[in-house]
Amino acid sequence: MVLAAEEEAIVRTVREFVDKQVKPVVRELEHANTYPEDLIETMKEIGIFGLSIPEPYGFGAVSMPCYVQVAEELARGWMSLAGAMGGHTVVSKLILLFGTEDQKQTYLPRMATGELRATMALTEPGGGSDLQAMRTVARRDGDDYVIDGAKTWISNARRSDLVALLCKTDPDATPAHTGVSILLVEKVPGFTISKDLPKLGYKGVEACELNFAGARVPAGALLGADEGKGFAQMMKGLEVGRLQVAARATGVARAAFEDALRYAQDRESFGKQIWEHQAVGNMLADMGTKLAAARALLLSAAEKFDSGERVDMEAGMAKLFCSETAMQIALDAVRVHGGYGYSTEYDVERYFRDAPLMIVGEGTNEIQKGVIAKQLVKRGGLGI
Ligand SMILES: Cc1cc2nc3c(=O)[nH]c(=O)nc-3n(C[C@H](O)[C@H](O)[C@H](O)COP(=O)(O)OP(=O)(O)OC[C@H]3O[C@@H](n4cnc5c(N)ncnc54)[C@H](O)[C@@H]3O)c2cc1C
Repeated sequence: MVLAAEEEAIVRTVREFVDKQVKPVVRELEHANTYPEDLIETMKEIGIFGLSIPEPYGFGAVSMPCYVQVAEELARGWMSLAGAMGGHTVVSKLILLFGTEDQKQTYLPRMATGELRATMALTEPGGGSDLQAMRTVARRDGDDYVIDGAKTWISNARRSDLVALLCKTDPDATPAHTGVSILLVEKVPGFTISKDLPKLGYKGVEACELNFAGARVPAGALLGADEGKGFAQMMKGLEVGRLQVAARATGVARAAFEDALRYAQDRESFGKQIWEHQAVGNMLADMGTKLAAARALLLSAAEKFDSGERVDMEAGMAKLFCSETAMQIALDAVRVHGGYGYSTEYDVERYFRDAPLMIVGEGTNEIQKGVIAKQLVKRGGLGI
């Protein structure tokens, strides 16, 4: 995949940022579970929060293949950094594709600089896969909506002053998805962040429980002009989200593979570099092959996204394959490192803790398989 020269330069800038500024500090930030304030500020300066916001609202959007390579580079350094810009990009795409002109002008310029950060809230304590069963409700009251309900596992919730909230504006609608809308919610009275959730990995950035108790927002908070479109709007947004998660997984897999490849040449046993033992060499061969396949699938899905076609199947396949691959490569990287793979003084244990998030987040891999199977039947195969 050949990027335009300016896009190549953006990816190169992020690669250098990761090598020079992220890699030297990541282990300390990770183990202290510290919010990476300085790194996020540099990401804002580089323009990472505005990568999908075109002029006149931002500085110009990049192609999806460029965007996923930026996310991959960030995740190669620290998955948490790629996570910090994932939901934000989905919300900017939602506003761009479905928002009113007023919403675009109100939010996008500040989102492009990172001055305003955004996140999306779909998952509820009662479940994340069955979104149509959600219980968060926004009732119209005069010129306002009044929101009641709860969301959970919402990434970057404390640092985001804008939440794209998936909720029911007509809880009695059948089918249920026709009663679902997205509201653009700022931090109004009645909206509280009740809890930071402890987690295995994805350290440094918060995932929180949100509560809405009579939270009042103006009617203009409805994304777009009509109620009942939120489910379809979010499904389009999730195409971007799933490509982003696939890119994160690819970044983690690449870091694990690169560390294992280097270690296998540094470490010796029985008078040989360990890669020369066929068992270790085979592991490296499998890891490299799977990584190359994952990356190719990601880039082809990203390229298709830019054609404007529906890519729920392609994004689902990329998310499924890249995340399962990241899991396998992270585990094999632990094996290659022997006892040091289990040490917190090396990075491979972090990859092993970060990889499972991509299996679960942005729709579990079981849910992706459902989407893929449905589309395979509907489209009559892969269209090859
Ligand atoms: C660190 C972290 C950050 C997150 N950030 C966000 C965020 O910013 N915003 C947000 O909205 N959500 C976020 N999530 C939530 C995430 O998207 C959900 O956890 C995920 O969608 C699964 O929902 P659940 O946890 O309720 O699992 P459930 O829906 O309860 O699923 C449990 C199990 O049942 C399986 N299952 C359920 N239904 C089916 C089915 N129909 N077919 C086959 N298998 C099925 C699932 O695959 C899974 O194995 C985050 C999660 C984590 C861990």
